[in-house]
Amino acid sequence: MTGDIFLKTVSHFFPKLTKWLASVDDPRNENKIIYGPSHLLWLGIFLFLLRLGSKRKIKYKLATKDFLDNLNKLCAGYAEKVAHHDTVEYLCQRLDPEELYVVRQNMVYRLIRMKALDRFRLLGDYFMIAVDGTGHMVFKERHCPHCLTKEKDGKILYYYHNVLEAKIITGTGLAISVETEFILNSDGATKQDCELNAFYRMAKRLKKRFPQLAICLLLDSLYAAGPVMDIAEKYGWKYITTFKEGSMPERYEEFTRLKSLSTGNRKETEEDEAVRKYGWVNGIDHKGNFFDVIELDETTLDKKTRFVFMTNFKVGKNNIVKIAKGGRLRWKIENEGFNIQKNRGFNLEHPYSQDEISMKNLYLLLQIAYMISQLMEKGSLLKQRIQKVFGSATMLFEQLLEDLRTRPIGNNFSNKPIQIRLSSFP
Ligand SMILES: [Zn+2]
Repeated sequence: MTGDIFLKTVSHFFPKLTKWLASVDDPRNENKIIYGPSHLLWLGIFLFLLRLGSKRKIKYKLATKDFLDNLNKLCAGYAEKVAHHDTVEYLCQRLDPEELYVVRQNMVYRLIRMKALDRFRLLGDYFMIAVDGTGHMVFKERHCPHCLTKEKDGKILYYYHNVLEAKIITGTGLAISVETEFILNSDGATKQDCELNAFYRMAKRLKKRFPQLAICLLLDSLYAAGPVMDIAEKYGWKYITTFKEGSMPERYEEFTRLKSLSTGNRKETEEDEAVRKYGWVNGIDHKGNFFDVIELDETTLDKKTRFVFMTNFKVGKNNIVKIAKGGRLRWKIENEGFNIQKNRGFNLEHPYSQDEISMKNLYLLLQIAYMISQLMEKGSLLKQRIQKVFGSATMLFEQLLEDLRTRPIGNNFSNKPIQIRLSSFP
């Protein structure tokens, strides 16, 4: 039953999640509302986890006796009825987003400490964190003082909000949000905020929140830049960055020249009907930061693809295949990360709220819901059955919605600790 799978997944991976949600600094000091923050925030998580599509559905779909009992069980609290969606919005407008950043940070810490992600580490050590920006909201009219603007011929075409995400990526298709930076203009700014500036702000917080974490950033060619390399060296991070001629023309020329000299740096593999030819160059100096370059020409039955990466890993015959494989995972932030959150029922770009604070909080609740969703999908309680029984993940969560609305969960729960392994297949 999906309700029990949900409850087991949450209690296995995040036994303290409700406690973390309950302990956010609830700014409603008037104490007029009977609902605790965990009740309201769980409803916010269910809005996304159950793919409700709009806040209104909280009232239409979740106001059943069984759902209330299930929610009370989850919150270890007692509410007489399921809160109205306006009450969820009321909290989201007042809650400092930092509170939810901390909840998410606790969740990621927990996954790391319990070693759930250990076998996905690059070269056995590094968590691969892809960083990329994407669209969040678009408006015809100015929506808030922080909107970015798209102009053409001096005329404003539309207003928008973007967001920069850092997600732990695995070859099996997990994309776990670890840091978020909203790309927005600060008050009175004449220059538009941009992805790189957002990255500089994000990097500081990522280091502060995860000071000990062995990180390898997966970056696109926008990040092939001196200041990004400075940050990586300063924080002790590795990076694998798409290297294009246009991003650093002089360095690229140097790479081409050195390549013709270092003819010994070659490796070839044949696997899965693909021939891969690797080449590398060591020790290119960019203003005191040294990096290596990897090139990979892949030939399959129907196409040829070429990849070039720059990295501060010391590249050699023994690690080049793994490093290149890591670099190629970067696109997963677009697919497993953004596309799924925009389509498949999460409706990332849907204006769940017009309020600028609430928008951020709902975005963070979406990331928390998506983390739970992926762990349910990829966890060993389900993996073998998802295709057979549900056909697709979307149907699984339709079933979960139905189960939570109509049946009590967790009644047959034993106190025996359970093990949930994450799938090693995509
Ligand atoms: Zn705005």
